[in-house]
This record gives sequence, C-alpha cells and structure tokens, in this order.
Amino acid sequence: DAQDTLLEVKNIEVIYNHVILVLKGVSLTVPKGGIIALLGGNGAGKTTTLKAISNLLHSERGEVTKGSILYRNRPVADLNPSELVKTGVIQVMEGRHCFEHLTIEENLLTGAYTRRDGAARVQEDLDMVYTYFPRLKERRRSQAGYTSGGEQQMCAIGRALMSRPETILLDEPSMGLAPQLVEEIFQIVRDLNEKEGVSFLLAEQNTNVALKYAHYGYILESGRVVMDGPAADLRENPDVKEFYLGMS
Ligand code: ATP
Repeated sequence: DAQDTLLEVKNIEVIYNHVILVLKGVSLTVPKGGIIALLGGNGAGKTTTLKAISNLLHSERGEVTKGSILYRNRPVADLNPSELVKTGVIQVMEGRHCFEHLTIEENLLTGAYTRRDGAARVQEDLDMVYTYFPRLKERRRSQAGYTSGGEQQMCAIGRALMSRPETILLDEPSMGLAPQLVEEIFQIVRDLNEKEGVSFLLAEQNTNVALKYAHYGYILESGRVVMDGPAADLRENPDVKEFYLGMS
C-alpha cells in the first residue's frame, strides 16, 4: 500500500567528482514501521546510499545523477538536511560523532535544536531516551569523549531520537563494538521500532545480526542491489549463507 510507504529510492545513480560512478541504479523502499537492512561489504555503496537520502553528498563532491528519492512522496532533493529532520528523517553517521567535550546529556540536548515546542517536551523526550538507554542516564554527566565506544554509539542514536524522528538512517551501528554490545544496541532498535513506531534504514556489514533484527534486507554489491527479500528468507538463502553469513 503506497500510503504505508515512507521512503522510496528509485533507481538512483551516484557519481563522485563527476567521474566515479558508485551507485549504478539502486532502488529500495522503507515502509512505515519497518526495520530495513542495507547489507554488503566494504565499499559496496551503503554509506553513499544513506548520504544520498539525507542530502549529504554535496560536501563530498558527490551527486545523484539519475533516479529519484521520495519521502512521503516529496523529493528529498528539495530539502536541506535540517528541513529533512523537520520532515522526520535523521541520519546517525558511521563512527558515532558525539561532541567529545560535551557531556552525554548536553549531546542529547543538541539533538532537540529543531524543536519549537518548549522545555517541558524536551525534558519528556530526554526521559524517553533514558528509558531506552539506561546506560546514558548513568553516564549523563560524563564528558562523551571519556565514555566507551558503545556508549558513544548510544549517545548518537539518543541524540537523533531527540528530534522525534519518524525514520532513522543508521550507518553501521555495530562498527567496532563487542558482540554483546551489538546485540544490546539492536535490541534497543527493535524496542524503539515496536514501542515508539520509529522506522529504520540501517546499513550493516554484520549481516548476521542485521538479518536477525530487520524485517527486510537489500544486499548491495558494487553499487547494485543483487538480492532483496524478507530477512527470514535471506537468512535461509544458500548464497547469502555462503557469502555473507560465513556458515555454509
Ligand atoms: P563502508 O562500509 O566502507 O562505508 P560502503 O558500502 O558504505 O562501505 P561507500 O562508503 O558508500 O561504501 O563507498 C562506495 C564506493 O564509493 C567506494 O568504492 C568508495 O571508495 C567510493 N567513495 C566513497 N566516498 C567517496 C568520495 N567522497 N569520493 C570518491 N569516491 C568515494
């Protein structure tokens, strides 16, 4: 049902520096309430796809040269990143990007900057973030630079939540984290999806964990979607098992 579609990426091509063709016709859909995984190895084009959606390619001399990206039927090309946040889409960058010199709580509060609805609501949202991330509550007065990698990843997701997004674009949440922490973060993603209704498009090299928590997956290879399907089907697919799950 088209009404349930939030994000629609249709056959996009992305070129860097006018010559380097990196995405060669990528299409994907994020339905309302979905957790959608964008899978593939290093350099397959996952980050480029997310940056195309959130209009962050210009600063890297990249551009979408074909196809279209619609959020609630509106072309995202017309929106700058802060307008996109106001329409409900926010990206959590790879490598976390918390402000190291601010405390965890100050970092979270920077996520509320687009909000116009007053301090009481901001406090409510802070409490909501702390409900999902009790570790952040414990560490709220710590300078972010002195917290662990997992806590910084949580901080980055928590900050994104402070804008009350409808959809979060999450780039490589598992990167550099111990397996147990990866599970903890994915559990929270699932909780936020089920209880707050947040939709996710998440780029992951860790196919195993991504397909455990996602509803649907797309596999990218060299800038093309080579396979897509419900996560349960992909988990059972012999090629996926052999090439991505390392358990053939
Ligand atoms: P990773 O897990 O390493 O982030 P990825 O699947 O997200 O991998 P991208 O970062 O989207 O892949 O990169 C896709 C391709 O585009 C790679 O070959 C990369 O070298 C190239 N690329 C990325 N950014 C630029 C840029 N600013 N200029 C030129 N080429 C780039």
